[in-house]
Amino acid sequence: MKIVSPSFEIITPIDGTEILKTIEEVGRTCYKSEDKITDDSCFGFAQRIIKSGHEAVIEHYNVTVRLTNDRGVSHEEVRHRIASYAQESTRYCNYSKDKFGSEITYIDIKGGMELDPKVSQLNAETFTAIYDEWVQACLDAEKHYNRMIELGATPQVARSVLNNSTKTEICVTMNLREWRHFFRLRTAPAAHPQMREIAIQLLMAFKMMIPVVFDDIYQEYLESVKEN
Ligand SMILES: Cc1cc2nc3c(=O)[nH]c(=O)nc-3n(C[C@H](O)[C@H](O)[C@H](O)COP(=O)(O)OP(=O)(O)OC[C@H]3O[C@@H](n4cnc5c(N)ncnc54)[C@H](O)[C@@H]3O)c2cc1C
Repeated sequence: MKIVSPSFEIITPIDGTEILKTIEEVGRTCYKSEDKITDDSCFGFAQRIIKSGHEAVIEHYNVTVRLTNDRGVSHEEVRHRIASYAQESTRYCNYSKDKFGSEITYIDIKGGMELDPKVSQLNAETFTAIYDEWVQACLDAEKHYNRMIELGATPQVARSVLNNSTKTEICVTMNLREWRHFFRLRTAPAAHPQMREIAIQLLMAFKMMIPVVFDDIYQEYLESVKEN
């Protein structure tokens, strides 16, 4: 078996300023104020639109991301309804084949354990014992999966023994408004630690690449970390 860290790839080519210019062009239709467009007016315009709650304007830009995380986390991702998804299928992928290294890939739970308020406070010995138990469970699942395939089971039958830590890839397309909503919910301390782990990294990348749109959400995240 293989253990990997969660990761992401932003598939949509991002030019932050161009995104804001699109938002401005769309939004100014409402006020017929296109004459106010200058080289850098899009920054202030986007800021005002978001601050006023006129968020339908930012629905006009979609971003697609490929997330690599575990299947438990992916169950939470697909609860967001204003989005499109394409997910690696455990019905069709046969992990016992060479293509997959004849092994199951799992997403490391260490990052999630460190973000869990209770588990992170445990002494090092207990922390390691919990982790080792998880490793053992993953090895067991892999053993039974491969054996079921050897006996003639199809992947869609054998998958029943795979656990929530099984790695999955999922392409997610959301407009900027829904990404804001996603980040607000999924970076908050109440979110599942492994969901937070990837959502926080992704929010930081979005904030760096797209000016203005995620600044307030990132600020909320920082404040929530200070309070907890
Ligand atoms: C900390 C946390 C714990 C959770 N625990 C559980 C749990 O124990 N069990 C469980 O089943 N789920 C749980 N969830 C999932 C949660 O209930 C939502 O399904 C998920 O967060 C998707 O968010 P959403 O419904 O706000 O919005 P999205 O589906 O992302 O939609 C965005 C927004 O569109 C609007 N919208 C979308 N669809 C409708 C609609 N049909 N009617 C009216 N307005 C709509 C709403 O304003 C919504 O906020 C949890 C989520 C979090 C963050």
